[in-house]
Amino acid sequence: MKNRVQTGLLLIFLTFLGVLGYNAWLLETTPPERTYTEFYSDVKNGQVASVHLKGSKIRGEDKDGLQFRTFSPDIPALLPLLFAHKVVVSSEEPATLFDKLLTMILVLISIAFLGFIFSKGSLRGGNLWKENRFQIKAGSADIKTFADVAGIDEVREELKEIVDFLRNHEKYNLLGGRIPKGVLLQGPPGTGKTLLARAIAGEASVPFYLIGGSDFVEMFAGVGASRVRELFGQAKKSAPCIVFIDEIDAIGARRGGGNNGSHEEREQTLNALLVEMDGFSSNETVIVIAATNRPDILDPALLRPGRFDRQLTVSLPNLLGRVKILEVHTRIITISKALNLTVIAQGIPGFSGADIANLVNEAALTAARHKKQSVEMSDFEEAKDKILMGLERKNAAINEQERRVIAYHEAGHAIVARFLPETDTLHKITIIPRGIALGLTQQVPVEERYTYSLVYLLNRIKVLLGGRIAEKIVFNHLSTGAANDIAAATDIAHRLVCEWGMSGVLGSMVYRQTQHQFLGDVDIKGHFSEATAREIDLEVRRIINDCYDETEKLLRNHNRLIHDLAEVLLVNETIDSEEMEIVVQCYSKTEKHPETDANNREESMT
Ligand code: ADP
Ligand code: MG
Ligand code: ZN
Repeated sequence: MKNRVQTGLLLIFLTFLGVLGYNAWLLETTPPERTYTEFYSDVKNGQVASVHLKGSKIRGEDKDGLQFRTFSPDIPALLPLLFAHKVVVSSEEPATLFDKLLTMILVLISIAFLGFIFSKGSLRGGNLWKENRFQIKAGSADIKTFADVAGIDEVREELKEIVDFLRNHEKYNLLGGRIPKGVLLQGPPGTGKTLLARAIAGEASVPFYLIGGSDFVEMFAGVGASRVRELFGQAKKSAPCIVFIDEIDAIGARRGGGNNGSHEEREQTLNALLVEMDGFSSNETVIVIAATNRPDILDPALLRPGRFDRQLTVSLPNLLGRVKILEVHTRIITISKALNLTVIAQGIPGFSGADIANLVNEAALTAARHKKQSVEMSDFEEAKDKILMGLERKNAAINEQERRVIAYHEAGHAIVARFLPETDTLHKITIIPRGIALGLTQQVPVEERYTYSLVYLLNRIKVLLGGRIAEKIVFNHLSTGAANDIAAATDIAHRLVCEWGMSGVLGSMVYRQTQHQFLGDVDIKGHFSEATAREIDLEVRRIINDCYDETEKLLRNHNRLIHDLAEVLLVNETIDSEEMEIVVQCYSKTEKHPETDANNREESMT
């Protein structure tokens, strides 16, 4: 409905523009007007060269070549005078009523035509007179195949099976198996849920109805509910078929939240959906697939048996998954032979399929900007940095003293990460400001981690603290540049105590303070006393302080190296792990520190 109003407004605006333009054009081409008296005396004085008569309107040109127009009350009386003064006379018939009507009809037809074109373009699903407006036809541009979906094999296989159910439903019915009615795809944004929907459309070879949850959400009460009925009406007629409701949370959110109008409307829509899903029996073979990023806010009624009782989780891809998704998306760009997708995938833990698609595109653009023949490793590196950290701010106003502090800060992070065991591998250290960060020490995990050891977590805190401690050792001052590091370190220490039960003092218990508030219901998960809260605070502080002391000891032991590394950073701005290793090797040769040997990393765990 909103679309309609918009289209209407657009039409009015266009017509208005047209009228304005026409008037401007008329003004441009209409000569200035003369009074009849002026004209009459001009003719008498022999000033007028020619006139053109149309009805009682007169256009003319005088002997100086000036154009004018005027209006005669009595043409027949004027004619003898014109001829007497040798004025060239031409004439045409005046516009009849019929002419005027004809122009008006033409204008109306073109406006209607325009309106039709616009409604085609922007009223997707709004043209109520058309049958099957939800159905996707094979061969339309949005269609994908299962080959376009990578890295989420289990989910893909499940869905393939369901498509197979539909194709051979007689066989399954004979065996007495009950075909699932509803399948809910859930998972973080960008993991390929919508993509899967399009792939099913491309492969199912049964009618496929695709609709977004927000298409049901309308300004006017009852429209959403009637759309649901309309959709299922069509679907039942063309069974076996698939109905896909994308972003179902738009209608499927928990009922009983607020009490304003839009909530009521959504409740009606949701109720209609529940009724429809209960309404067809399982041998009617309409399968409803829905997708959501927010399964937590869905109304529990949707998840009951007989509705969306099968739930598939589409998770973020792991290393192998990322490689496969990279393969899919690099198919359409020209990549260099030396490109190693596994190495790229290792550097982007936590990227979703959509992030990877974006990365590949960004890398291709980068390569184009550097006028390369093919996309190379360095383009991916640049694209990744741009996505993860924002654009380099090469010209950010940073004075020399600040640059020195940043260099020592980053050197501190890097050295701690280099010398402690069970830390992520160093990848890159830079003092070029990016996004909001002034400098960055980047680490990448050696392999996918699903669980973290206590040692890893404590060392992670130490790496975070290393920046500030280096600043303190060298300049003996504290700066706000470490604020994010401190916050992150505190967060880890806090979760260590409260979520992961790793503190000896507080034991293996979960202390959750979070309150989740979803549409009215307050959901407090676990609570604890004031005394416990105090204990938690003390424990978190102890962990941070212990880590701080140990890190300070480590960095003081390698004081020279901090200076060496910071100097190299000040000159080179960005160094990678190999370059860092060279600096460390030079330092250990001159300083003779046995523990700088990488195989003999300092043991400093409690
Ligand atoms: P969701 O609906 O889960 O939020 P989408 O399906 O809209 O995510 O994904 C957006 C885009 O990201 C897709 O069009 C596709 O280009 C890319 N993408 C996401 N997941 C995958 C995947 N598993 N394989 C290949 N491409 C993917
Ligand atoms: Mg989606
Ligand atoms: Zn830092």
